[in-house]
Amino acid sequence: MQTRQPKNIVILTGAGVSADSGIATFRASDGLWENHNIEEVATPEGYARNPELVQRFYNERRAQLLDPTIKPNPAHTALAELEAHYQSNGMGNVTVVTQNIDDLHERAGSKNVLHMHGELLKLRCVKTEQVVDWRSVEPVISSDGCQCCSPAQALRPHIVWFGEMPFYLDEIHYKLSQADLFVAIGTSGNVYPAAGFVANARNLGLPTLEFNLEASNNASLFSDSIYGRALETVPQWVRSLIHR
Ligand SMILES: [Zn+2]
Repeated sequence: MQTRQPKNIVILTGAGVSADSGIATFRASDGLWENHNIEEVATPEGYARNPELVQRFYNERRAQLLDPTIKPNPAHTALAELEAHYQSNGMGNVTVVTQNIDDLHERAGSKNVLHMHGELLKLRCVKTEQVVDWRSVEPVISSDGCQCCSPAQALRPHIVWFGEMPFYLDEIHYKLSQADLFVAIGTSGNVYPAAGFVANARNLGLPTLEFNLEASNNASLFSDSIYGRALETVPQWVRSLIHR
């Protein structure tokens, strides 16, 4: 572990953090997401072929996310506490870059969150790309139109599909350039460009720390690795940073 207190920390989070809250995400191992083929529900081509099916899929994901049983877990809470502690003591900045499309980091209290793969509780106009909130289990149907165009255009899920450019890449690279520590939590190391951030961080000379259930494809790139469930390992690490 690094010996001096890191000032600016960039934390990449992935499916492993949300899994402990009961949210299933896309698995690269079998190419399925809740039994749906990824080409059908997470590509622009799939949406063009069958927008109703794609809307139904994200309606189901949204209803699951908004179910009262789904809550932030201790890993989300610990990261929010770390950010608040840094903020209130003027220690530096904690930025969460998440591949997750849920809002569990925000619900736990994190403020500084970049959703590089989009957000389930938002939709956007296919023409103007104006983003609107959709924090409701009310299903989106393909006849629901935007408010920004006349005639109204379709509102698509505000999700970065395979083959599309992730959001905030410039901002993420800037944050990395200002960081003293890069941390990855619960991410497989399979999905680029996020999987490449550890190499960017190393090129910038940053210490890099991985939390995972087991060694990821990228494990050898990290200077330190901690294995186990994120809801146990992450709070422990945060306590060690706050109380040193
Ligand atoms: Zn519009």
